[in-house]
Amino acid sequence: MLKLEGVTVRYGATIAMNEVSMQVKDGEFVTLIGSNGAGKSTTLRAISGLEPVVSGRIIFDGDEIQNGSTQSIIAKGIAHCPEGRRVFPHLTVHENLQMGAYQRFDRQGIRKDTEKMLNMFPRLRERLKQPAGTLSGGEQQMLAIARAMMSRPRLIMFDEPSLGLAPNFVEQVFRLISEIQEAGTTVLLVEQNAYAALELCDRSYLLSSGRVVLDGSAEEMRANPEIRKIYLGG
Ligand code: ATP
Repeated sequence: MLKLEGVTVRYGATIAMNEVSMQVKDGEFVTLIGSNGAGKSTTLRAISGLEPVVSGRIIFDGDEIQNGSTQSIIAKGIAHCPEGRRVFPHLTVHENLQMGAYQRFDRQGIRKDTEKMLNMFPRLRERLKQPAGTLSGGEQQMLAIARAMMSRPRLIMFDEPSLGLAPNFVEQVFRLISEIQEAGTTVLLVEQNAYAALELCDRSYLLSSGRVVLDGSAEEMRANPEIRKIYLGG
């Protein structure tokens, strides 16, 4: 479904992605793990068209999408749930959800999907008319996920959705992401918590200094001595 071939992204002199190659198959749950500054967020941003790709190719459903407009990439079926939630604080919960569907014109479908999201996230239904900025961190994260789902993506990318959340919310958010995958959406998740990531996913890539240094199934990654020592605390 998604394939990166030797993708390089720079910020001035910093090489944030150094010939990164990876793929996500239809229906899979793939995670990107690695420490701070490894290039995980940049990878998602490059896929979304938010960072210019210097060299290499990003292929989605057979089409080259590197350096495409974010709008065209969303229209192809890729949604991005960025780090730090970024809901529109002055808009209500309901308005935020509608913003997620701004490229759609099937009003009935939008209504149906809004209902589906409110069933999935009952807390959002209770707060439908509240400005999003008044929600707790965990609720804003749920709203960000629900809003991304409103574009009816085939691939949804999450950037550290658990960051800064209370433990019970973290569990809830991970459960929701698993449910989204089980319902048929392909998932690419960036997660610093390698333990949680490798519990949830089918396959994983380990990034270090902008390079893919290891990849494999969740079981292979969990059994890897280096991963155990550095990322799983022995
Ligand atoms: P984190 O978990 O901290 O977000 P990450 O693995 O997502 O880490 P990136 O945010 O992709 O890493 O950063 C990769 C490299 O690019 C780092 O060296 C970072 O300092 C640098 N970088 C990221 N964004 C910018 C920017 N806007 N301008 C300059 N350098 C940047």
